[in-house]
Amino acid sequence: MASAQTIDVENAHMPPFFAKTPISIVRGEGVVVWDEEGERYLDLTAGWGVTSIGHAHPAIVAALAEQGGLILQNPDSGLTYSPARARLLTLLCGVLPAGLDRIFFTNSGAEANDAAVKLARKVTGRRDVVACEGSFHGRTISMVSATGQARHRDKFVPQMPGYRFVPYGDLAVLAGALDPGVAAVIVEPVQGEGGVHCPPDGYLRGVAELCHQNGALLIVDEVQTGFCRTGPFFATPSDATPDLLTMAKGIAGGFPLGAFAMTEAVSRKLELGDHGGTYCGNPLACAVACAVISYLIEHDAPALVAARGREALVEMDRWRTAWPDLVTDVRGAGLLLLVELRDEAAAAAVAAECLARKTFVRQTQGVGVRVFPALTITPAELAQGLAALAEAIAAVAAGPVG
Ligand code: PLP
Repeated sequence: MASAQTIDVENAHMPPFFAKTPISIVRGEGVVVWDEEGERYLDLTAGWGVTSIGHAHPAIVAALAEQGGLILQNPDSGLTYSPARARLLTLLCGVLPAGLDRIFFTNSGAEANDAAVKLARKVTGRRDVVACEGSFHGRTISMVSATGQARHRDKFVPQMPGYRFVPYGDLAVLAGALDPGVAAVIVEPVQGEGGVHCPPDGYLRGVAELCHQNGALLIVDEVQTGFCRTGPFFATPSDATPDLLTMAKGIAGGFPLGAFAMTEAVSRKLELGDHGGTYCGNPLACAVACAVISYLIEHDAPALVAARGREALVEMDRWRTAWPDLVTDVRGAGLLLLVELRDEAAAAAVAAECLARKTFVRQTQGVGVRVFPALTITPAELAQGLAALAEAIAAVAAGPVG
């Protein structure tokens, strides 16, 4: 097929959820992808924070082939045992915050959050959940109800009852919002979709303490931040161990998989039949996740990501001084980075100029341009991507929007 045919078929037969870029991608390698006409692009989005060790990584290809030749889905699914699942559980226990050693699998981040809320209600016997303004927790009806952004939430009525919202980063308001009706607080350690916002130091520890004092469970949503996206394996600080932690995206480098981990104390209050799912811990997904996590461990991804993130922020900081009227902020943690532009039109123009330079970035929250490439991006590839972004900003500064 040529790109034009692919685009016509997708436009004709898919609902209008996405404002799509008219580019049809056939293959990738590391941070580079190619379209149907053989045009080459740099992917600074990692497929929305997913392809943690790059496209078509040989370790993933080998795991897919090996496990694919053995078994994809067990007889009786989760009711039988799988060495791939057991290997993944062992690996996860080695990288998760201490104490989170009971784990179950899902197909996506929204499902992991959904399950965490459902089980927190069961465990506490309470109903309400406190979430943060600006948060994003997924697209199921319960997770749009938990999402602190009106544009994702308010058109879907009735929403799941019981959600309350507090400003992100504000412990005093959170303290006032907690009462004996609150089953859980759900929070991202860095808000990704909300515009790459890092909370003040000590925030998560404070949230954990408040939850503890009020008998509510703390659910940390690490769907976007997990698996070294911000540097460490998880962005949750060691002094803020949650009761439940949710994961997806980078866990299996592009193979759809999610998971939630909990403490033994939470797990003890759960019973046979409380949760399940057809694919929960499917051997193929588990084998791919093992390959990804092993690679991240063996190549010291936390150190690599911290180094690349520092280099990127030094470069991006220059843009603030170079174009003070256009670049209003640069921020991020590890390889979850954002350039904030003066307004939405400027951000859209910068993203378009990047694409004209064969570089994918993601416009975020209107005014932001997010950069979140594969964690294996080399210094040269990162410099090339940032140069394209800087050229795009310069072009916008010189043009009619600038
Ligand atoms: N939670 C966070 C923090 C996310 O960033 C996302 C997706 O962007 C989700 C949950 C939803 O994950 P999924 O799209 O896999 O359902």
